[in-house]
Amino acid sequence: MSEIKSPILQVRHLSKSFGSHQVLKDIDFETYHGNVICIIGASGSGKSTLLRCINMLETPTSGQILFHGGDITEKGTNINTYRSKVGMVFQSFNLFNNMTVLENCMAGVTKVLKKDRKTAEETALKYLSKVGMAEYINAKPNQLSGGQKQRVAIARALAMEPEMLLFDEPTSALDPQMVGEVLEVMRELAEEGMTMVIVTHEMAFARDVSSHVVFMKDGVVAEEGEPSALFGNPKQESTKEFLARFR
Ligand code: ADP
Ligand code: MG
Repeated sequence: MSEIKSPILQVRHLSKSFGSHQVLKDIDFETYHGNVICIIGASGSGKSTLLRCINMLETPTSGQILFHGGDITEKGTNINTYRSKVGMVFQSFNLFNNMTVLENCMAGVTKVLKKDRKTAEETALKYLSKVGMAEYINAKPNQLSGGQKQRVAIARALAMEPEMLLFDEPTSALDPQMVGEVLEVMRELAEEGMTMVIVTHEMAFARDVSSHVVFMKDGVVAEEGEPSALFGNPKQESTKEFLARFR
């Protein structure tokens, strides 16, 4: 009998309004282990709101977000435990500026995962080494470049040993010369089989690295598919128009 794999995350009929402004309209998608899903689309199309709903930073107006089949939008969900399994990396890093690099990467491990300090330190060091930031353990975030900060933020997310990671335009706040070092870390994670949902404007990266691409327009999934199809032979006029901006 063939093994039937079930999705890690399922978004079903997700809608979100702010007042009378409907920002997400009946979004459906799912993520399986090892998927790298890139979400592309113009500014204002609802990409961040979608990730923020998945991470429970926003409450959906309607619809479901199922994590291993359980609806996380229901009362009684332990949000901190859920976020330790579905980590998020933000455009603006969101590091704790009063803590060192090492402390940033240990905080969730001790507070949420309840590991002892020695284990947390070993875990933090392991992932800081992975992103090439081990020599900066005693630095404060404001002593680092944008690319270094984002690599620390990725290490902090990895230190929770999550099942999947969400990235919201992780390179959009960076000077151009620092984009590559962050994308390189993400590319390596993808190659190692990390499950990721990535909002990005880096089209070459999305084409190379993703298993699936979702194009959002005005709060709906306007087109989705394999990267070769979506980038090479887009079907919708709106997709063609959007991609033409990057040529
Ligand atoms: P994207 O990430 O694709 O640029 P966003 O999800 O940030 O898009 O925003 C989609 C729309 O939702 C925009 O029109 C934005 O102004 C609106 N929006 C986002 N967050 C809020 C909020 N907290 N309150 C009101 N409107 C919001
Ligand atoms: Mg956004």
